[in-house]
Amino acid sequence: MPKLIELVTGKVDGVDTTLSIFRDSIKFTYGEEVYVFDLEGRPIFMYFDNMLYERGLSGEIIEKKWISFKPHRRYIRRIKDANEKRYILRYTYRRIGEILDHLNYRGRDDLKGLLNEEMIGRLEREEKVFREIYRPISILPPDQYLALVFQPLEGCPYNKCSFCTFYRDREFRYKSVDEFREHVEKVVNFLGKGILIRRKVFLSDANALFAETDQLLEYIRIVKEYIAGDMVEGFYSFSDYFTVYKSIEELQILRKEGYKRVYIGLESGSDNVLKILSKPGPATRSIELVKRLKKAGISVGVIILIGAGGREYYDEHVEKTVEVINSMPLDERDIIYFSKLKIHEDSEYLKISREYGLTELDDEEMNMQIEDIRRGIRLDRQPIQAIYDIDETIY
Ligand code: SF4
Repeated sequence: MPKLIELVTGKVDGVDTTLSIFRDSIKFTYGEEVYVFDLEGRPIFMYFDNMLYERGLSGEIIEKKWISFKPHRRYIRRIKDANEKRYILRYTYRRIGEILDHLNYRGRDDLKGLLNEEMIGRLEREEKVFREIYRPISILPPDQYLALVFQPLEGCPYNKCSFCTFYRDREFRYKSVDEFREHVEKVVNFLGKGILIRRKVFLSDANALFAETDQLLEYIRIVKEYIAGDMVEGFYSFSDYFTVYKSIEELQILRKEGYKRVYIGLESGSDNVLKILSKPGPATRSIELVKRLKKAGISVGVIILIGAGGREYYDEHVEKTVEVINSMPLDERDIIYFSKLKIHEDSEYLKISREYGLTELDDEEMNMQIEDIRRGIRLDRQPIQAIYDIDETIY
């Protein structure tokens, strides 16, 4: 929990209101409404009119609402229209203005200088700067939406999975040391005090572990040049299990330098399903990587692709995935993510699934498949299990 520096409570127009100043953020509540900002005054979460709005550094806003918890069903909409985004921001800053006008807080003028409608223009200008600093952050694990992302590698070294269109827009490449240093400096300057709320460092894009260990250590060293060690909670990244080989000794060094968790797209334990996904197997190779990571003290996030192989491979997908998961030395520090397959019109998967005559699972069947896999998992120490909806990615 971030450290609370000051809490102010009161009534604004008869509504219970609080202002919490944290070491890394500012939070307001007004009745049911909630507003959270980073220390530069950028909104992060807003909850009003029974709707949650998440805003990323990119300027994207996602609107969300729970429909049901079990089965997991959420309404999600990515707001693209600039006027609509402006309306949400205006609503937010006006509400904060009203609160600050009435709340008895001695730092009120400073906050009014920061959290006002003029910020909207600054936020819109920042969207352009963001695009100059970053290639699009196509995907992040759900527990990393508030990470501090750096892109030492761009794209995916494999880039051929039939269901995946995340990095089709870019060639895979490494940044040189100088280029990466410049990138880090730009990100740090861009974030200003807003960096304080982002304590996990995520090394993007698809597979930072693909880099030679020495090179990866150099990237980590550069990040540490710009951010004090105690400000970094840990380093995180994706990895595949078919191009990456790192010895336990190498992983131990990475652990010592702060690597905390690696996210691996297992997708399926079935090699037949992997074939449909154009993902190299065998799936059992993932077990070896997980064993080495765990031995080195690095936790893992294992991603399972729900619905892969359609109805025709339903049972095989469940059975083999459970087998692979149960062979991994997972525990409560690890996460198993269930990600429902989203088939893009222009994806290879659609073509291949037609060739195979596959029938897509509907949402109810996907929820059933999640439950079937959950039931099969027998591990002494239960990892966290969570839904991974790729449409919720925001940075
Ligand atoms: S699923 Fe992962 S390994 Fe496959 S193409 Fe996409 S990013 Fe690359």
